[in-house]
Amino acid sequence: MSKKLLLKDAHIEGIRYFETYRKQGGYTAAEKALKMTPDEILEEVKASGLRGRGGAGFPTGMKWSFLAKPEGVPRHLVVNADESEPGTFKDRYLMEFLPHVLIEGMLISSYCLGSNVSYIYIRGEYSWIPDILEEAIEEAKAAGFLGKNILGTGFDCEIYVQRGGGAYICGEETALLESLEGKRGNPRLKPPFPAVKGLWERPTVVNNVESIAAIVPIIDITGAEYAKIGVGRSTGTKLISACGNINKPGVYEIDMTITVEEFIYSDEYCGGIKDGKKLKACIPGGSSVPIVPANLLLRTVNGEPRYMNYESLADGGFATGTMMGSGGFIVLDEDQCIVEHTMTLARFYNHESCGQCTPCREGTGWMYKILKKIEKGEGKMEDIDLLWDIQRKIEGNTICPLGDAAAWPVAAAIRHFRDEFEWHVKNPELSQTQNYGLAHY
Ligand code: SF4
Repeated sequence: MSKKLLLKDAHIEGIRYFETYRKQGGYTAAEKALKMTPDEILEEVKASGLRGRGGAGFPTGMKWSFLAKPEGVPRHLVVNADESEPGTFKDRYLMEFLPHVLIEGMLISSYCLGSNVSYIYIRGEYSWIPDILEEAIEEAKAAGFLGKNILGTGFDCEIYVQRGGGAYICGEETALLESLEGKRGNPRLKPPFPAVKGLWERPTVVNNVESIAAIVPIIDITGAEYAKIGVGRSTGTKLISACGNINKPGVYEIDMTITVEEFIYSDEYCGGIKDGKKLKACIPGGSSVPIVPANLLLRTVNGEPRYMNYESLADGGFATGTMMGSGGFIVLDEDQCIVEHTMTLARFYNHESCGQCTPCREGTGWMYKILKKIEKGEGKMEDIDLLWDIQRKIEGNTICPLGDAAAWPVAAAIRHFRDEFEWHVKNPELSQTQNYGLAHY
C-alpha cells in the first residue's frame, strides 16, 4: 500500500473546515516554518527532491532559488489551479476536499519566497470551488494564519482567488499571468522568465496546486524524510487521477514505487479493465503526453517492469516511453479506436490554440481535418505521411508548449498504431460503421 501524505485525512468528515483540519494537526507545519528562516525552508524543499506536479517535473527548490530579489520590488506566488489538461482532475479533488492543505502550503511558500500577496488562478469551469477556497481563506485569516503580522512574526500575507474564463492556454504560466493582469491569455516569449519578470513585471513563482500542497508534509516530516519516499529522482508521493475504461476511476495517491500493472489491475487502485476487456493503451500523464500501447506500458523494451514514476514512464524516450506529466491516467480498452481518439484530441488542441504562432494555429487545424477524413474512411495512405509531416513541423517551432502538446499525441498514435490508420484507409465502408478496435480484437 502506498504511503499517504496529502490525502491521509481525506476520509475525515468535515476536513474541509478549519476546526477539523486543525484538530488533525493542520497548520502545525506552518507554525514550524514560521520559526525557520526563508533560506532554511528553501533548503528543506531542495532536500525533498520535490518536482513540479503540474506536468513538467522541474525541481521546485531549484525553481524557487531562481526567484530574483531586487531591493524594494514586491514578489508574488501564483498557484496554477487552471487544471484543464484532459484526464486530469487531481487538483480539483485537493481544492474541493482539502482546501486548507493548499492554503497552509501557500502560507509556508509565500513566507519562504517573500510574497505578501499571493494568488490562486482557478479555471472557470471549476465554478463551485472558489467559494470553498475563499471560505478556507477567511477561516485561516480569522485564526491568525493569514493577514497582518501572522502569529506575531511580522510577516503579512493575503491570498486572493481569481477565476479564469475557461481557456486551456491559461494553464501555461505566462498566459496565466497575462490573464491575471486582466489581459487576453496569450503566452509570452521567454526569456524573461516569470522568476525575473512575472506578474506586473515583478519576480513571480508559478507553481501547481499539488506542488504547493506538498510543501506541508515536506516541512512536517523534513525534506530528507520526504526524499526517502519513492525512488531515485521520483521522490515523495504523487496524486494520479485515473479515468477511462477502468473499474474504479478516481484520485489516488501513490508513492511512485508501484508498477503500472499494479496500478491498473490492483483493487487498491483502478481495479482492472471494465467488463473484463483487454487493455489496449494508456496515456499516463494527461492528454499531451504520448500514448503507449499495452505491451510497452506494462514493460519497457528491455523487459523490465514499468513503474509509476518519472524515469520509468519515460524509459526509452518518445519512441517507446511516455511521461508522468500531470498524472492524468487515461486507460483505453480493446474496443477503443485510436484514430477517433487522436482526432478528438486534435480537435481539442485546435480549439484551444491561442493563434499567435502559425505552426500551431494552422497545423492543429490541418491535423484535425486530416484525422477526421481518415476516421470517416475518406483518407488516403499519403494522408498518414502528411499527418506525420505536419506534427514534425509543429514540434519545437512554437512560442509555448501547446504546439508540442498537440503534436506528440499524433506522433505517438502513428508510431504505435499505424495499422489502425491504414485499416481506416483500406476499409472505407467499415470505417463509418465500426471502429478498428471492434473489427480486430
Ligand atoms: Fe498560442 Fe499555440 Fe503558439 Fe502557444 S503554441 S502561443 S497556444 S499559437
